[in-house]
Amino acid sequence: MNKNVRVRFAPSPTGGLHLGGVRTALFNYLFAKKNNGSFIIRIEDTDQTRFVDGAEKYIYDTLTWCGLLPDESPLLGGAFAPYKQSERKSLYKQYAEQLVKNGYAYYAFDTPAALEEKRKSVSNFQYNQHTRMSMQNSLVLGEDATQKLLANNIPHVIRIKMPENEEIKFTDMIRGEVNFNASLVDDKVLLKADEMPTYHLAVVVDDYLMQITHSFRGEEWLPSAPVHILLWQYLFGLDKMPQWAHLPLILKPDGNGKLSKRDGERLGFPVFAMDWTDPKTNDITIGFKERGFLPEAFINMLAMLGWNDGTAQEIFSLDELIDKFSIERIHKAGAKFDYEKAKWYNHEWIKKLDATTLRTKVKNILNDITVNYQDEYIDKVIALVKDRCTLLTDFKTQSSFFFTMPETIDIAAIQPKWNEQKTVFFQNFIEQLNVLEDWNTVAIEKLFKDLTTTQQLKAGELMLPFRIMLVGDKFGPAVFDIANLIGKSSTIDRIKNVLNLL
Ligand code: GLU
Repeated sequence: MNKNVRVRFAPSPTGGLHLGGVRTALFNYLFAKKNNGSFIIRIEDTDQTRFVDGAEKYIYDTLTWCGLLPDESPLLGGAFAPYKQSERKSLYKQYAEQLVKNGYAYYAFDTPAALEEKRKSVSNFQYNQHTRMSMQNSLVLGEDATQKLLANNIPHVIRIKMPENEEIKFTDMIRGEVNFNASLVDDKVLLKADEMPTYHLAVVVDDYLMQITHSFRGEEWLPSAPVHILLWQYLFGLDKMPQWAHLPLILKPDGNGKLSKRDGERLGFPVFAMDWTDPKTNDITIGFKERGFLPEAFINMLAMLGWNDGTAQEIFSLDELIDKFSIERIHKAGAKFDYEKAKWYNHEWIKKLDATTLRTKVKNILNDITVNYQDEYIDKVIALVKDRCTLLTDFKTQSSFFFTMPETIDIAAIQPKWNEQKTVFFQNFIEQLNVLEDWNTVAIEKLFKDLTTTQQLKAGELMLPFRIMLVGDKFGPAVFDIANLIGKSSTIDRIKNVLNLL
């Protein structure tokens, strides 16, 4: 393997980061780290019409949350700075002009209105080998007329001149040999009228200048590959071209097409990594982070969407993924997204995480209700409830009552079967709890059961009311464990509180 592996994650800052984008970043990162290479972030923001405020910061925040830290980036800088394409604008024009000079590209003066007219009058209009000679471009106008228009600063773009009947092929690291017929591809714009490059030119020039050795990107870019291969051939030579890997799509749960943000909204699960607020509408799209996912689980789940290590192992830390990652084991076919499985990963990671890390995260979720409690107490609560928590946010419901009195009490669940005998039972229970010396789960349970026997009541009928007194609801860990942990006075207060409501 090449010693200086350099890979780039090259997002366009156009909104929230789709989980497919994070997976592309992840596979780049894993490949770089596996090969002691460099992981580079390049911001591809040459399409100013698609620029969205806040999207760039969101990308950095997401990668930081996921632990995918770059070696070079617009924020960190590096030997190949700048890493933001809009700041590299002056670099691209010379390459586009070199292509024109060598006959691989041409100036096109067609106005946006003229192009619009064409699209209206010709269905599926393509600017290509069949139509280019009926348009306003240097191929039609000839050298003198073209020079005159250029001298008069007439707005123009530079388009690639796609060859006719040429087969273009390359070896994709995932798909093997891929073939294209160049005539099927249109004459893409390379340099726009504002002298900004399009993605096609910028990606090739920057991969070259930044000495990128391997380019991982989503399968949706495969149709653009012939243009990029020709540009490599025309500008820098195919021997310098990075090795391409087009990653399989992440599909809707039913396998019918690419998973979109709208599918998430429709089916009630996140598709973006973190919450995204649209700066224009202030609409918030929920993210995995805020839904209660651990970054460890999110990354693990993403890695398994289209990859496995060839064994039945499903739980991997980032370090293990680096160790085990291999391109050969990336699947060609799209991977169906399964939200239930995503939650399963999170649950496994909640169970697996070390106590200190989990405590910090749970404290964040529970906010200020834990401030008066020692870490030791919080750890005991976590140990009791974590099996019941699939998402971090579940800790809120599952453990708030360990810190504060339940806010609501499900009286309706006990009232219909309530009677005087039960009131007496709990009054006696309070008296005996008051004098109980060894406050522990076993002692509380024994006291409770002995009292039911003496009063000829069924313990089973009193357990639910007791739970509702302590928790406010019908869920939670073993009720005597709860009483033990919240302590004597809190247990007694909660029983009294509910007796008053009945
Ligand atoms: N800027 C492209 C995107 O937003 C990146 C494609 C590539 O990695 O070449 O997805």
